[in-house]
Amino acid sequence: MKIIMLGAPGAGKGTQAKMIAEKYGVPHISTGDIFRANIKNGTELGMEAKKYMDQGLLVPDELTVKILLDRVSNEDCKNGYVLDGFPRTIPQAEVLENALNDINDKIDYAIDVDVPDENIVNRMGGRRACPGCGATYHVEFIPPKAEGICDTCGKELILRDDDKPETVKNRLEVYHKQTQPLIEFYQKKEILRTVDGTAGMEDVFAAITAILG
Ligand code: ADP
Ligand code: AMP
Repeated sequence: MKIIMLGAPGAGKGTQAKMIAEKYGVPHISTGDIFRANIKNGTELGMEAKKYMDQGLLVPDELTVKILLDRVSNEDCKNGYVLDGFPRTIPQAEVLENALNDINDKIDYAIDVDVPDENIVNRMGGRRACPGCGATYHVEFIPPKAEGICDTCGKELILRDDDKPETVKNRLEVYHKQTQPLIEFYQKKEILRTVDGTAGMEDVFAAITAILG
C-alpha cells in the first residue's frame, strides 16, 4: 500500500501518517523529519535545507527528490509506505510517478487532510515535538500526560523553529502557491480522497481507514 498525505502545514498529516504506518505495518516517511535529522547531525544536506526551512520556504526539488527516492528504494519499503510532506510541488509528484512507472508500480491513494487556514495558525502555534523520538503533541488538543514532557521517551518537548507565527504565515502562502495544485493533479488521476481534518484525531483516522480498508 502506497499512500501520499496531502494538506496544509499543521493539518495533521504527520499525526495521521504515524497512525496509518502502525495499523498497516508500512514505514512513515517524512521529508521534514529527514531534513531535521540532518540538521541535528550537522550534515551538509542539513545545513543547506535549514536555510530554506527557517524562512518557511520549500527546500529545492533537486535536493528533496534525491533523498526521497533513496529512502523509498530501501528494503523496508517493499510492501509500501506512507509519505508525509512529499510531494510538495508538481515536479516532485512527476518524478515520483515516473520512478514508480519504471518499476510498474503506482501510488494507491493521495489523502487530503482538509483544514482551513483559520485553524492552522492555532494548530502550529500549539504543536510541540519530541526531539528524541519525533512524537508530536498539541498543548490544547493532544496534550502529553505531563506538561512539556514526551509520554514515550520522557524528553522535554520543543517548539519547532519554523512553527513561530512569522514563519507560519510564509509556509501557508507557499502551501497555497506550490502544493495545493497537487490536489487537482491527483484528482485527475482519480486517487484523491479528502477527509475533514478539523475533526478530532480519532475521527479523522476512522475516515481514513474507511478509505484504505
Ligand atoms: P502536519 O504533519 O500536517 O504538519 P501535525 O500532524 O504535526 O501536522 O499536526 C499539527 C498540530 O496539530 C500538532 O500539534 C498536532 O498534535 C495537532 N493535531 C493533529 N491532528 C489534530 C486533530 N485532528 N485535532 C486537533 N489537533 C490536531
Ligand atoms: P514538514 O515537517 O513536513 O512540515 O516540513 C518542514 C519543512 O521542511 C518545510 O517547510 C520545507 O522547508 C521542508 N520540506 C519538507 N518536505 C519538503 C518537500 N517535499 N519539498 C520541499 N521542502 C520540504
